[in-house]
Amino acid sequence: MPCNFLDFCEYQTNKLVRIQSFKLGSLKWTLNVVILMFICIMMFWNKEYQEYDLVVSSVTTKVKGAALTQVPDIGEMLWDVVDHSGTSQEKNSFLVVTNVVVTKKQRTGKCPEEPPHGKVCRTDKDCQKGHWDQRSHGVQTGVCVKFDRTRKTCEVDAWCPIESKTKPPRPALLGSSENFTVLIKNNIRFPAFNYIRRNILPTMTDKYLKSCTFSRQTDPFCPIFRLGDIVQEARENFSEMAVEGGVIGIQIMWNCNLDRLFHRCLPTYSFRRLDEKESNRTLYPGLNFRFAKYYRENGVEERTLFKAYGIRFDVMVFGKAGKFSIIQLIIYIGSTLSYYALTTIFIDWLITTSCYAKEARQNYSERKFESVRDKIQGLFSVSFVDESHVRVVKKPQKKRLQEARPISCHTRKDGAMCMRALLSVVQTPPGREVELMEVADRPAWCLCGHCAPRPAPQEQLCCRQSHGPCITTSAAFPPLVLSRPILESALLYREPLMDLPKGDPARLLRHCAYRLYIDWRFGDAQGDACPVIPSCCVQRIRGQYPSLDEHYRGLKPGVTPPTHSPSDTVL
Ligand code: ZN
Ligand code: ZN
Repeated sequence: MPCNFLDFCEYQTNKLVRIQSFKLGSLKWTLNVVILMFICIMMFWNKEYQEYDLVVSSVTTKVKGAALTQVPDIGEMLWDVVDHSGTSQEKNSFLVVTNVVVTKKQRTGKCPEEPPHGKVCRTDKDCQKGHWDQRSHGVQTGVCVKFDRTRKTCEVDAWCPIESKTKPPRPALLGSSENFTVLIKNNIRFPAFNYIRRNILPTMTDKYLKSCTFSRQTDPFCPIFRLGDIVQEARENFSEMAVEGGVIGIQIMWNCNLDRLFHRCLPTYSFRRLDEKESNRTLYPGLNFRFAKYYRENGVEERTLFKAYGIRFDVMVFGKAGKFSIIQLIIYIGSTLSYYALTTIFIDWLITTSCYAKEARQNYSERKFESVRDKIQGLFSVSFVDESHVRVVKKPQKKRLQEARPISCHTRKDGAMCMRALLSVVQTPPGREVELMEVADRPAWCLCGHCAPRPAPQEQLCCRQSHGPCITTSAAFPPLVLSRPILESALLYREPLMDLPKGDPARLLRHCAYRLYIDWRFGDAQGDACPVIPSCCVQRIRGQYPSLDEHYRGLKPGVTPPTHSPSDTVL
């Protein structure tokens, strides 16, 4: 069965490389401490350990004040709170009338329309009975009447006389309303924490509330505001704003910390103008509306029409409350853990840069990265006697292996194995030797003069990259590769109870010699690539331990080469 239940009961973990370096170690700890400090500062600064809830609030306002003013055509007039805000009681806002245009003693009747609104006419034909448009004050009667000395306008059925003045008086008639005060009552609630509070704080007494006025510097929590102060805080001029009216926002901010240790839940007030500031540059600036007072005179209904300009104050409440939550804390800590990866990324980057010597860099990367290539791709490793490193090359298709370009280079490591090998050479007498002969028909790719021609391009490999002596002529070659006692010892080392003289000892010894050559010349540097023995060495080993039937297997990359761990080849 391909699927085994036990496969599911496995745990896999990452393999790590520990670099024992004081520099890198202290750098790692420094970076980690910096990251930890950053995380802690952010946690306390932004109160990341808290869970939050948004404010739910209700606002009521009460304006107080009275103003005495001289209104043209009417005379002295008293305005109190009822005149001001009785007409508009909106949610979360209040309005104070600051300027007024009065048209008194209006009755329903017939009168000429005001020229800018009504049509200037010459005869009755110019007027249309029953006509009305957006700008007119009444319905046309179809008669053209005299408006003043020079002009005639269409007559209308309307409240007469028609309101004439269009521009508000300057200075504003009720400019003194800047001394009015307003009491803002704001009840808030944070539903998640079931926490209730109001802006009239528990410490405030009746006596205090009767005398206090809000001031940012001296009394920032008093809920009673002078309108002039509000407008001033919004960086506006009250008397200027009073002429055409406007809208001011009163923002109440509740930033509450409901933790027992740092409990704080107080409102902060701020003010700003909400409508268009520059009235002379905008169309329809300010805020105005009309209302009328009705009365009867001599049995006829009359009214006084007011076009009122005012400042509306909108109260807006924002806020959130935070309270310690272990879940939030865990989530925050979890979300910050990834910052520690920055240390790894930074140091990994650092050891690949030129801050480190080339050797150290090479060492780190060789330990850190294990290159595994696709086996099907077919890779060979090649070791030339005149090069210190082992080349890894792609399996050549048509080209000779001798000329194949390296994909990568690995340094050969001579360790304890080499020393043991040399010791065994010293202790062992040399075996029978075959005389070295230069091959007569030397192929073109051979640079050492000892290679025999090979049909397959992948076997066409010399022991050298440039002209020079062959590796087989080296004094080390016979004792390390060919010595019969060493080969026999190596075979017995692997299989202690092997009976050597039986079977085909030459075949065994030949293969063992190949293995020793690979261990000697490649070490463990070839990785997944198949090591290729140069033709001259193959020739020499075959000459020493020939096959009886003259049949040799040749290079078969698909077949696993002899294992090359140091322990299984050399005593
Ligand atoms: Zn050669
Ligand atoms: Zn050679």
